[in-house]
Amino acid sequence: MAADCLFCKILRKEIPAEIVYENEAAVVIKDIQPCAPVHLLVIPKQHIESLNAIVPEQAAMLGQLQLAAQAAAVVAGTAQPGWRLISNVGPGGGQEVMHLHYHLIGGKILGWTPD
Ligand code: AMP
Ligand code: ZN
Repeated sequence: MAADCLFCKILRKEIPAEIVYENEAAVVIKDIQPCAPVHLLVIPKQHIESLNAIVPEQAAMLGQLQLAAQAAAVVAGTAQPGWRLISNVGPGGGQEVMHLHYHLIGGKILGWTPD
């Protein structure tokens, strides 16, 4: 946990968030500024800055994040026809909160717009 990290504060319940799903490694919350009918954030309970900072010993925990995303997609009703998982990495990737997270986007048919 990092003292001044927004997502660590959410994990400590110091800042409220709408939790959609939780497993041993991750919490999935609703994004406060959704860009699609379903826009969730899959957040590891461990503070890791980004995918630039992961190490092989975290592989099992990282797998738990994707299982949490799969379960949250079911809870949110977007497992079918489908959804997207994105992680912005660093300022060049558009990352604003420096605690690793995946955006789970769905609830509509998505175009491919990497910009
Ligand atoms: P990123 O730009 O990839 O770091 O994504 C950060 C995301 O966190 C953005 O989509 C924000 O809308 C979202 N966000 C910021 N503050 C909150 C909050 N308090 N609760 C939920 N989502 C948040
Ligand atoms: Zn953090």
